[in-house]
Amino acid sequence: MNDIDVLVVGAGPSGSTAAKLLGEAGVRALVLEKAEVFPREKPCGGGLSARMLTRFPYVKDVLAEIGTNPIRRVYLESPDGTGVTWEQDDPIMYLIRRWEFDAALFRRAQAVAQVELGVTVRALRVLPDGVEVEATDGRTFRAKMVIGCDSANSVIARHSGLRVGDIRSEYAVDMMEETPVARLQAARPDTVSLFLTLTKTFGYGYIFPKTDHCNLGFGCKLNYYLEELRGRGKEHHAAWVEEMKQKGFVTGETQKDSYKAFPIPVGGPLAKTYTGRVLLAGDAGGFVNAFTAEGIFYAMSSGALAAEAAIAAIQAGDFSEGQLKSYERVWKAEIGGDLEHSVDIQRRLFNDSGRIDQIVRAAARDQDLLRLLIGYSMGAVRYEELRNYMAASALPKWVMSKITSVFRFGSKGTAATSGV
Ligand SMILES: Cc1cc2nc3c(=O)[nH]c(=O)nc-3n(C[C@H](O)[C@H](O)[C@H](O)COP(=O)(O)OP(=O)(O)OC[C@H]3O[C@@H](n4cnc5c(N)ncnc54)[C@H](O)[C@@H]3O)c2cc1C
Repeated sequence: MNDIDVLVVGAGPSGSTAAKLLGEAGVRALVLEKAEVFPREKPCGGGLSARMLTRFPYVKDVLAEIGTNPIRRVYLESPDGTGVTWEQDDPIMYLIRRWEFDAALFRRAQAVAQVELGVTVRALRVLPDGVEVEATDGRTFRAKMVIGCDSANSVIARHSGLRVGDIRSEYAVDMMEETPVARLQAARPDTVSLFLTLTKTFGYGYIFPKTDHCNLGFGCKLNYYLEELRGRGKEHHAAWVEEMKQKGFVTGETQKDSYKAFPIPVGGPLAKTYTGRVLLAGDAGGFVNAFTAEGIFYAMSSGALAAEAAIAAIQAGDFSEGQLKSYERVWKAEIGGDLEHSVDIQRRLFNDSGRIDQIVRAAARDQDLLRLLIGYSMGAVRYEELRNYMAASALPKWVMSKITSVFRFGSKGTAATSGV
């Protein structure tokens, strides 16, 4: 144990991706994971954007090993009930169960890196010559550096001083169930349905049909959850399922035991995601799209980039903050623009239901706009493409101004960073 180079705390998509790359590069990595066994539960919609297969070609093999529902049809509903449907030939996303997906990624990490399951990390100490993490059972583990992949409530982020302050306005809560189709069924198993109908709650609802399960969920800002829903999340969820049944989107019954609520960081990446001997990846570093709540792709991307930065640090024999700053440069180049725009869009969109109505109504009349909006939401269309379309669009001026006010298409195409 004493000659470990890198500790990876957490074996979700970020941790397993980081560990796989470290192990393949011959780095002595040790993964510490609180779950006793894999597969393990992780509340999640399980929607993978199709770009995952380009960024991580081995995910194609992963998808072939597990139940995967390729999605080519998306339904989007606005607060005033306007519905639009987009269909395309190639899959726009893949629906998986995290139970299976994470286990398949974990197997790949375990093949090349050491792993200790059943270790809940409770403290981090950064020492002059390395790092030491302490588990709740009193055991300690040392290495040259650590990558914190320990999720939204990251101990590594807090103890390294990289996450400070109140998280209320920076987190959302997603309440969901993943229920076998024998009990709860989506009316259209080929369709992902998204309901931006919940503006009063600063949130959204969704139905994600898996191969043999149905995911149905509802997300809202943490401060709204704490003020309005704490203690009655299950009740609220049951009412949401009932509404979906009444509207004909699902049939069958909710399964109360499947209900889970879990936090999602939606404030964008932390102001700093590195310090001497420490890097943060995935939810621990705030790598989630604040507009769509997509996190798996960003977890794997940041995990991979953190591993590359760690490999460079080991080669240089330098674990200083100055050396590890390269991590921030590379993640900003690859996913930073996406994440920055997403925070801004989320703040503008979820504060004004009228804006959502107008955008969805405009998309209902304009197939190109619909394609771009759905593509942008699914990570298939870049912000710049949407901006260029708007610049050349023949849509009425008042519609343009609504869309522009949400997506912040400035004359130079930069996104504003302030809230509404
Ligand atoms: C309800 C819900 C729905 C979502 N739907 C989607 C979706 O459809 N598509 C999408 O892309 N994203 C979705 N997300 C976001 C996505 O789930 C996360 O962004 C993603 O899981 C982040 O991966 P990660 O590896 O950083 O963290 P995680 O997947 O949370 O993994 C962290 C791992 O660290 C372990 N761990 C935690 N603390 C410790 C500790 N102290 N010591 C040791 N181990 C520890 C955990 O057991 C876990 O295995 C959703 C999130 C929620 C809550």
